[in-house]
Amino acid sequence: MKFATYIYNGDEYAGVQIADKMYSFDSLFGRVSLLEFIQKYDGKPLPDFSPNGDGVSVNDVTFIAPIPRPFRNIFCIGKNYADHAKEVKETIQSNQDENLIPKAPIYFTKTAIPAVGDGATIPLHTHLTKMADYEAELGVVIGKTLSHATQEEVADAIFGYTIINDITARDVQNKHSQWFYGKSLDGFCPMGPTIVPASEIAFPPALKIKCHVNGETRQDGITTDLIFDIPYIISDLSQGITLYPGDIIATGTPAGIGHALTPPQYLKAGDVVECEIEKIGVLTNYF
Ligand code: MG
Repeated sequence: MKFATYIYNGDEYAGVQIADKMYSFDSLFGRVSLLEFIQKYDGKPLPDFSPNGDGVSVNDVTFIAPIPRPFRNIFCIGKNYADHAKEVKETIQSNQDENLIPKAPIYFTKTAIPAVGDGATIPLHTHLTKMADYEAELGVVIGKTLSHATQEEVADAIFGYTIINDITARDVQNKHSQWFYGKSLDGFCPMGPTIVPASEIAFPPALKIKCHVNGETRQDGITTDLIFDIPYIISDLSQGITLYPGDIIATGTPAGIGHALTPPQYLKAGDVVECEIEKIGVLTNYF
């Protein structure tokens, strides 16, 4: 079972995918968005999702981002895989050793309204950047209000997992002292195709994560290589910021970004980028 937001016959629905059928929440709970659904349950046991009615074929719907309008910015972690931290030459941080491995998580945020979905075409903003780049990341969706949590309390507070491409304009990122602008251009937060419930993935997740550009594998990592793992990140953030159901955390990207290749390979018109995470799926976008 996967949670999704999709367009069917011109209307937006939230619901669950079971095998190759979509079942909207409408018949079960009335019309709610997936974000409203997550907020409504806030850590309580989720209801039974036995298929109700015939559903509609996945071939007849268009997936959009599972949470297309996050209620606040995406929480992001920079340089959270050692091999990626080493490949990035530029640094504006002062808390790093000579190998550029962060000693504390590098937190930043990106705005994502709307987050775009699987299959969407993303503008390259060529009037502003010549260095658009991809970053495949495991996205964690919070399912329960969380404050001052221990690492042991984190597993029960996760609603599910998705795929995020933390698209970044490298020249804009480096021009300004803060990464926010270069990470937040319109369309630069593809997400999805769906959210896989936390109950279906062993904790902490040990999932292969890849990115393919025009069929060429550029990133090939595993989420167990995170420098700061999910229990640490979420517990650490919750010491000072209350996390709410529907908050989304992008956990960082493994090595292989276009910026670090020789010569660099930035995204260009006509490119197809596929971010793939084991047990979650493939997030495909066109540029
Ligand atoms: Mg990133």
